[in-house]
Amino acid sequence: MTEHAPPVTQTSNGAGPRRPADDADVIVVGAGPAGSTTAYYLAQTGLDVLMLEKSAFPREKVCGDGLTPRGVRALVAMGISVSEQDGWVRNKGLRVIGAGKRLELPWPELSSYPGYGLVRPRTDLDQMLARRAQQAGARLLEGVTVTGPVLGERTGRITGVAAKEADGERTYRARVIVAADGNSSRLSVAMGLRKRDDRPLGVAVRTYYQSPRHDDDYLESWLDLWDGDRLLPGYGWIFGMGDGTSNVGLGLLNTSAAFGHTDYHALLRKWLEGMPAEWGFTEENRTQPIRGAALPMGFNRTPHYYQGLLLVGDAGGMVNPFNGEGIAYALESGEIAARVIAQALSRPTAASAELALRGYPAALNDAYGGYYTLARTFVQLIGRPGFMQFATRHGVKRPAVMRLTMKLLGNLTEARGGDAVDRLINALSKMTPAA
Ligand SMILES: Cc1cc2nc3c(=O)[nH]c(=O)nc-3n(C[C@H](O)[C@H](O)[C@H](O)COP(=O)(O)OP(=O)(O)OC[C@H]3O[C@@H](n4cnc5c(N)ncnc54)[C@H](O)[C@@H]3O)c2cc1C
Repeated sequence: MTEHAPPVTQTSNGAGPRRPADDADVIVVGAGPAGSTTAYYLAQTGLDVLMLEKSAFPREKVCGDGLTPRGVRALVAMGISVSEQDGWVRNKGLRVIGAGKRLELPWPELSSYPGYGLVRPRTDLDQMLARRAQQAGARLLEGVTVTGPVLGERTGRITGVAAKEADGERTYRARVIVAADGNSSRLSVAMGLRKRDDRPLGVAVRTYYQSPRHDDDYLESWLDLWDGDRLLPGYGWIFGMGDGTSNVGLGLLNTSAAFGHTDYHALLRKWLEGMPAEWGFTEENRTQPIRGAALPMGFNRTPHYYQGLLLVGDAGGMVNPFNGEGIAYALESGEIAARVIAQALSRPTAASAELALRGYPAALNDAYGGYYTLARTFVQLIGRPGFMQFATRHGVKRPAVMRLTMKLLGNLTEARGGDAVDRLINALSKMTPAA
């Protein structure tokens, strides 16, 4: 679709005139964690932000529902109360089970991150984040499916989006558009930004069981996922929801030969068959269907800024390849994008605003570039036959190695100073080129 954008000379964080209701300074497509966070931080600067979300809250999102301390920090920064009285289930760390061993690794206590993680169903979490953005002043339209970009005729730049809603079709316009529409990011695809085949991708499935383990205060991760006599690159998880159920699932990386040929439901059932009967992971106790989705990792869609469109969260392939965590990176990239956009829209000329927007990929690279390059090497290694088995057998019985591994995999180090492990991981991430 091609249309002329209306001339926008001033933004509403200046003293500019109000626009028609369908227009905004910034349109955010998708109100998952990435979209709501972007909208929250933008609205705080006084910009007029419009979020378009195809579903209506509360809505389900296939997820493990687990947050590491990195995610907790980002929620706290947005002024979200994460107390147990407010329904959050805290966890003390990660229990790793593999090669016949069981190891409890408490989250590190750091100046930059709290020493606990959280669990919360996505039906709650995502609604809470969307409401937080609204409280900050963002406008949210639910039940609005964005169907494609509106492009400037001569520039090819995105100047708005076309959308389908209950009472027909409509066009919304803004100076900057944010794609926060998740893994498949149809908007990015329509702008020519496809997934990169040279970047990792995971697939994960999950369901819920009524279980006495629902109040476990550790996140549990099982490294023993077998395909015949081969240990698969991935892990199974059991996260207590605190409401009588456990979120149980597994995820695999695309770096093994088994990827694409795996029956995930059968693998889940086979893995659970080996669990003690009293944990209750049986068909009678299953409370939800088994559902799956992809995990786009390690910047697997780039560039993150193109012709007026910024990609945040899963749309930009921001899931951490080391551990499959995506919520924290959705929240953080939303904040980074918002800061860049606010600077850009305060500039007096279009050329100067464009220069600021082009800084977004560099800001992301500063935050994660080297670390994600390291992670991509890691996922290649564990996809090799025998490597996963070797690492599990030798790693799990060495607590010191596992503590280092936990900090590395969770991206939980002090930004400055810290202990020898922090300094080693930070140095590796800095030395590794962001590519
Ligand atoms: C099985 C599984 C388990 C996982 N477990 C964890 C975990 O325990 N912890 C963790 O940190 N991460 C986990 N992840 C990853 C995590 O779910 C994602 O990284 C996270 O949801 C990314 O947030 P997002 O806002 O970028 O995208 P999403 O959460 O996917 O949000 C995208 C939003 O955009 C909306 N949308 C899409 N298309 C349109 C459109 N055309 N118009 C309007 N709206 C649109 C969608 O309805 C949705 O609300 C898991 C993923 C899977 C698949």
